[in-house]
Amino acid sequence: MTPQWCDQRQSQEWSLLLRCRSINGATYVTQPHCATQIQLSEVSSMSLSSDPPKFRVAICGAGIGGLVLAITIGKFAGRDIHIDLYEVRDAITTAGAGIIVSQRTTEVLAELSLCEKISRVSAMPPSSNHGHGRRLRKSNVPNGGFEWFQYISKTVKPGFVMHRQELVDILKQSIPSSCTIHFNKKLTKYEKQSSGSLALYFADDSTSTTDVLVGADGIHSAVRKTLFETIGPDVIDPSKIRHYSDPSWTGTLVYRGTFPAEKLSKLDPHNVALKGFMTFCGKGKHVVSYPISQGTRINVVAYVSDEQKIGMPFEGDWVSAVSLEEVLEAYQDFEPDVKHLLNCLENPSRWALHVVNKLPLFTSDRVALMGDAAHAMTPHLAAGAGQAIEDAFVLGRLLAHPITTLDNVPAALKAYQGVRLPFTQFVARQAERTTSTIYDFCALGTDQGNEQEKMEILKEKIVDLWDSWVTEGEGGAVAEWVKAERQLQEGSSK
Ligand SMILES: Cc1cc2nc3c(=O)[nH]c(=O)nc-3n(C[C@H](O)[C@H](O)[C@H](O)COP(=O)(O)OP(=O)(O)OC[C@H]3O[C@@H](n4cnc5c(N)ncnc54)[C@H](O)[C@@H]3O)c2cc1C
Repeated sequence: MTPQWCDQRQSQEWSLLLRCRSINGATYVTQPHCATQIQLSEVSSMSLSSDPPKFRVAICGAGIGGLVLAITIGKFAGRDIHIDLYEVRDAITTAGAGIIVSQRTTEVLAELSLCEKISRVSAMPPSSNHGHGRRLRKSNVPNGGFEWFQYISKTVKPGFVMHRQELVDILKQSIPSSCTIHFNKKLTKYEKQSSGSLALYFADDSTSTTDVLVGADGIHSAVRKTLFETIGPDVIDPSKIRHYSDPSWTGTLVYRGTFPAEKLSKLDPHNVALKGFMTFCGKGKHVVSYPISQGTRINVVAYVSDEQKIGMPFEGDWVSAVSLEEVLEAYQDFEPDVKHLLNCLENPSRWALHVVNKLPLFTSDRVALMGDAAHAMTPHLAAGAGQAIEDAFVLGRLLAHPITTLDNVPAALKAYQGVRLPFTQFVARQAERTTSTIYDFCALGTDQGNEQEKMEILKEKIVDLWDSWVTEGEGGAVAEWVKAERQLQEGSSK
């Protein structure tokens, strides 16, 4: 039994799937060119089904975006779509850091029946009436800063705040049985075949094929690179290929880490970071801290920026372990609460903050980009992962739609691009403006004029930036999906 969509090569792969064997209840297959055995989630029941999948989707990257895409397709298409999830690492894992998910994105998580599980690990479940206020301090005052203002939004409800690993663990548990995960698979490029399917090439010299490819492979996306290198001069200006495929350095270094909240309360029981979400501002630098893991740990993200270096190449490793001395050195001119907070950091890391330049498109034929691969942005609105989740929801529902077939996949991907490209790029711009607003504030101390007045004006600007992106976008990602569905249906009826 070979599905209709199989060409000769795919037919060989299909028979290979049928030769898989069961070991300790799990199903494994040895792939060509691959010495290791790979577990296939319930391949046996898929391959024995009398209704073969309508098409295959390869997702490159098992980050938050790729995982939510697999979950969405599985939930709405069942076994109608077979998913291959390729991940360069040997496990599904993530940075040891905190994550904030906005209220906008929680609507999508509710549609995917994930909210209940996530609210159990969140430090601030959406139903809570406290703890979501943001406090900003002027902190570049070595003998003691002051609270500049506290803001609790009247229009925007809080979302979720948690450790990344807690979120990823929940997503991992929800991976559908129609999904086969392939670890240690670094995609290097893809090629369109004459049959219309796509050949995938990996760093271990193995190859595979798929019908639809989604690049959820983060800021260094190999899918984005191939897409822009192969798209043709009639669609994009060839001189812009590198601009679209290469990320750009923001001139900012980010120190990240977490530690047990108890450590800070012992060292400095009255430290303001123990009160909740804090932003400590200084000239060209700011530190954000908030509780995670139900308040038992504190997450710290400390930024050091040099506007002169924006767009310059970054020399060295983009992510590296650093000494505590390096972090403390950077904040020598900050108030004691910040120094105590940073002193508690365990295994701090330094990230050279890069972004993806504004892209003219997210899709070409049967290939789509999503999440950081499409729009890696500065983290100042804590929106990047949320936007990856929203992309995944809209894209997954369009692919899973009963009227989507292999023939109209390009139209489904265009409908995805139609709603997600403008919104994600709006959020990316707002995130960028937030950075400069915060640095404007930081520059106040050295400017001429009335500092107090300027600070009042800046308050309004910041509030607007924080709130407007969440309420923008015609009712959220669920509404975007409805709009994209309409576009798909109208396209199909012509
Ligand atoms: C300091 C900082 C703080 C942040 N805080 C927040 C926050 O609070 N809230 C928020 O919403 N966002 C936040 N973000 C942004 C957020 O982390 C990202 O937007 C989000 O993780 C993107 O998810 P993704 O799945 O698209 O990409 P990624 O998380 O980068 O996942 C990509 C996956 O693809 C794999 N991969 C890469 N290349 C290949 C390849 N060639 N072949 C196979 N697999 C590959 C990777 O191993 C990885 O598993 C923050 C970012 C930073 C830098």
